Amino acid sequence: EFNFFEQEVGLLDTVGPKAREIIGQDCNMVSACVARPYPLVVDRAKGSVVKDIDGKEYIDFVAGIAVMNAGYSNPEVKAAISAQLDKMVHCGYGDFFAEPPLKLAKKLRQLSGYSRVFYCNSGAESVEAAMKLALWKTKRQNFIAFYNAFHGRTLGALSLTGSKVRQKEHFPTIRTVHTHYAYCYRCPMKLDYPSCGIECAKQIENLIFRRELSPEDTAAVFIEPVQGEGGYIVPPLEFHKEVRKICTDNDVLLVADEVQTGCFRTGPFLAMENFDVRADITCLAKALGAGLPIGAMLADSHLMDWPPGVHSNTFGGNLLSSASALASLEFLEKEDTENHVREMGVHIRHRLRELQENFPCVGDVRGLGLMIGAEIVKPDESIDPILRDRIIREAFKDGILLLPCGDSVIRFSPPLVMTDEEADLGLDKFEKALRRAVR
Ligand code: PMP
Repeated sequence: EFNFFEQEVGLLDTVGPKAREIIGQDCNMVSACVARPYPLVVDRAKGSVVKDIDGKEYIDFVAGIAVMNAGYSNPEVKAAISAQLDKMVHCGYGDFFAEPPLKLAKKLRQLSGYSRVFYCNSGAESVEAAMKLALWKTKRQNFIAFYNAFHGRTLGALSLTGSKVRQKEHFPTIRTVHTHYAYCYRCPMKLDYPSCGIECAKQIENLIFRRELSPEDTAAVFIEPVQGEGGYIVPPLEFHKEVRKICTDNDVLLVADEVQTGCFRTGPFLAMENFDVRADITCLAKALGAGLPIGAMLADSHLMDWPPGVHSNTFGGNLLSSASALASLEFLEKEDTENHVREMGVHIRHRLRELQENFPCVGDVRGLGLMIGAEIVKPDESIDPILRDRIIREAFKDGILLLPCGDSVIRFSPPLVMTDEEADLGLDKFEKALRRAVR
C-alpha cells in the first residue's frame, strides 16, 4: 500500500511541522484513494499564491486543476457568494425558480450562443447528461471517443474515457469505439503534419463507419478541444473542423467536453472558438463555479427538448454555486481575460521553449492559452515519467505547484489572473528545479 509518510521523507523535510503532523496522522487515510505528488497541506490562497498550513507560499500553476480561473479569494466572487449566503443557499432548482441560476443561464447564453442549459454538479455529471441527451435525441446506442481522452470516472463517462485504461478494468461500459486524436508529437499513425492531411480525423469515416459502427448506430462523437488529462495535447487547427464535417455529413452529434478547456482557459469563453467550430452539445464544469461545485450542459432548444423529469437532480443550479459562477464569469469578461490569457500563454511557452536548448529532456512544449504542457523525454525521445515526477517534486521544494498529466507531461494551468511577475518568478524557479532534477 502507498504510504505517503514513508515514501516522501525527502519532501516532508521541506514542509513545516503542522503539515508533517497532519500528513503523519492521516497518511493512510488520504492515500486510500489518491496518490498525491507532494505533501502540500493548504490553508489559504489569494490570486495565484497558495499558503500552506505552516505559512509557506507557493506560486500555483495548478489552479485546483484548472478551476480557479478568476484567482483565489477573488473579491467580486467572494462578495457575490456572501450576499447569496445572507439570503439562502439552496432551493431545489428542479422544482422552483430562483434568480441566480436564471441570471447565470442568460450569461451562458450570451457567452456561448446556446439557448438552453442543464445544471449539474461536476464534469462527469455534465458528460453523463450529454450522453443521455444524445441517446435520447437520436435513439441510437453507440458513441465514438478518442484514445487518451478523459471525460470522468462515473460509469457512462468512464466508457468514453480513453486515458485511464487500468481504472476501466472490471467495469461494464456503454459501447464506445475509440479512435486517434491528433497527437502530432507522437503521431499514432506515424505520419507528419501537415502532409498527413489530418488522416487521424478521417479515420472516423474510413475505419469506424465502414468496419465497426455505422453512422446510423452512432449517437455522438465526444471530443475535448485540447486533451487535458491525456497530456495537454493541442491538435492542429483543421482537426476539429474535419471532425465537425464528418459528424454533420453523417448526421451524428458532436459533443465538446469543455470541462477543462472552457471558461476562458484557452482565451475565448469556449476553446472550440479557437478552431471556429460549434459543437451540438457542450459540457462545462471545473472553472464555472470558481471553486464551488457546478456543472452545465449547453445545447440549443431544438436539441434539448426533452420533457421535464427525463433528467434532473437535487443540487444542479445551486444558489451559491450559481452566484459564484455568475460573478466569476462577469469578472473574467470585464478583465479582458481573452487577451491576457493569449499573451501570457505565448510568453510561458516561449520561456519553456528557451529551456529546450539546455535541457533536451523538455521534448515538446505545446499549449493553447493557459493550458500548457511540457513533455519530458529521455535522450531517445521516449517518455520519462520518473524524471517528470522528479522535476515536479524539485519545483515543489522551491515553492512551485505543478501537476503531471498524460504519460510524461508537466502541465501549467495557472489562475488566469496570474501576473507577469508571478509567471516569470515561477518559471525562474522551475528552471532551477529542472537543473537539480536532471543532475
Ligand atoms: N471532462 C474533462 C475534460 C475533465 O478534464 C474532467 C476532470 N479532469 C472531467 C470531465 C471530469 O470532471 P469531474 O472531476 O468534475 O467529474
